[in-house]
Amino acid sequence: MAYISNEVINEIRNKTDIVDVVSKYVNLTKRGKNYIGVCPFHDDHSPSMSVSPEKQIFTCFSCGASGNVFTFVSDFEKISFMDAVKLLGDKVGINIGSNIITKKEKDDYIDIYNLTSKFYQNSLFTNLGKNAIEYLEKRKIDKETIKKFGIGLSIQKVSLTDYLKSKKYNVDKLIDIGLTNENGNDIFINRIMFPIHDLSGNVVAFSGRIYNTKDNSKYINTKETDKFKKGKILYNYHIAREYLKKNDSVILMEGQMDVIRSSTVGINNCIATMGTALTKDHRSILKNMTDNIILCFDGDAAGEKATNAAIEILEDTGINIRVVRLPNNMDPDEYILKEGADSFKEQIKNAISLVDYKMEILKKNKNLNDIKDISSYLNSAVKELVNINDDIAVELNLKKLSTNYNVDYNTLRSKYDNLRSKKKEVVSEIKPKKVYDKYGKAQTSLIYYMLKSNTVINMVEKRVGYFPDKNIRELSNEIIYYFHKYGIINVADFISYIADRDEILHTLKEIIVMDKEEDFKLEEIEDYIFVVNEYHKEVRINDLKMKLKEEKDPLKQAKISLEIMNLRKGVRNGTRD
Ligand SMILES: [Zn+2]
Repeated sequence: MAYISNEVINEIRNKTDIVDVVSKYVNLTKRGKNYIGVCPFHDDHSPSMSVSPEKQIFTCFSCGASGNVFTFVSDFEKISFMDAVKLLGDKVGINIGSNIITKKEKDDYIDIYNLTSKFYQNSLFTNLGKNAIEYLEKRKIDKETIKKFGIGLSIQKVSLTDYLKSKKYNVDKLIDIGLTNENGNDIFINRIMFPIHDLSGNVVAFSGRIYNTKDNSKYINTKETDKFKKGKILYNYHIAREYLKKNDSVILMEGQMDVIRSSTVGINNCIATMGTALTKDHRSILKNMTDNIILCFDGDAAGEKATNAAIEILEDTGINIRVVRLPNNMDPDEYILKEGADSFKEQIKNAISLVDYKMEILKKNKNLNDIKDISSYLNSAVKELVNINDDIAVELNLKKLSTNYNVDYNTLRSKYDNLRSKKKEVVSEIKPKKVYDKYGKAQTSLIYYMLKSNTVINMVEKRVGYFPDKNIRELSNEIIYYFHKYGIINVADFISYIADRDEILHTLKEIIVMDKEEDFKLEEIEDYIFVVNEYHKEVRINDLKMKLKEEKDPLKQAKISLEIMNLRKGVRNGTRD
């Protein structure tokens, strides 16, 4: 780990009980040696997550989520692994601060951005900001809103860079984090500056808007950095979350101005994507933020496309989705300015359910006076209803379709039942767990038992030549290395050790949730080692066979044949080549 030593991380983990921590987030009940509860990482109502006080890990047998106390907190809270370590460290009285070697450098980013944000805000209220304030007032953004969203102003060529240099920040750093360009000048000049915050409310980027000159780029954003990834940030998240009461909906919009405008009319639970499509990261953020979401994108065709894409991402999260489609291609900002706050609030109140929205979308480009089009519409509508897990909504919609298009209800119903039973068959075929072939099984089983037994580690180290799978190979190397360094290994600590290596961590998690016997026999391990080494023999034999085919020299042919024979006889069986 880059910033905190393993010893300290393990000490915190040893002083922390995973059952205590997880039960703060999830209701746990004791069952046998373990505790079980509803997994927060997939949509479920039955308890499929198990927490082991003995091993200090959690596993979900449904979605495969697993890890130690730190990964649980980091996944749940959407914070980094190190932040989870810090958080839990504070709780057991281990202050990470003093253990972080390069803490100062690490926090500079946030400090610089906060300073910059203040600098821009001050600039707006100097003489240089007169035009900008006028512009904002013309756009009906009052001083209160300016303060609330930390709106500021960037001014001349090097003013910010000079200011930050006077605070002893290095220009290279400023270039690196997106405030200064390669020539040493400010990146943002003469723009109204909207700070962008991360989920915790730190300023991590800016969006600069042109206001008094003609410029092709109306808005420019800070380049993506470590801390500013558009796909992981939702504008105004930190404020919206504060306003959010239980059962409230979050309103998701496309633009910052939509969010700001909504706030001026007292709607504070709005967030916006940063000009990108909704990502899987957004999806997990939203899933933990709310059960209800209203999609209120721009009223134009692009907005409709974005709405549909967002639905696709959010649909199976269990979040209740409703949709607002604003008329005349308007975005929420325009709509509020033109039609007024009350009308907008009415739109939000009347947001339609996802089913209704889909039924509407299916009508597009269809002539519903034409029998062929009606039939095609009804078919796709019934098909869509099959995906809905709400019997009452289905019933109501079938009835509505029957009445509106004068088609016998029973015909629609039986069509629906038919499709539904087919879908169930498909669903029950899906196995959440990974299925391994014999080589996969042997490799993963060896890793599984290496994490339990020093004997297995020794056997693998001495006798397994080379794991065919890259991630398994790296895992095995790390386990062996860890074991030699610390003389002991346990899963929970090993997870911390590789927490910054996504790929092998992912493989490790898949192995942890494997449904395996706790106890093992040495013969079993022997078998796995045999199979893994056999794999290379097989590959080698195949290679040699190919060579043999191409080889013209009889002497060399004989040599290859002999090698194949020896391999087949298992001369090198189970040992390192
Ligand atoms: Zn799960």
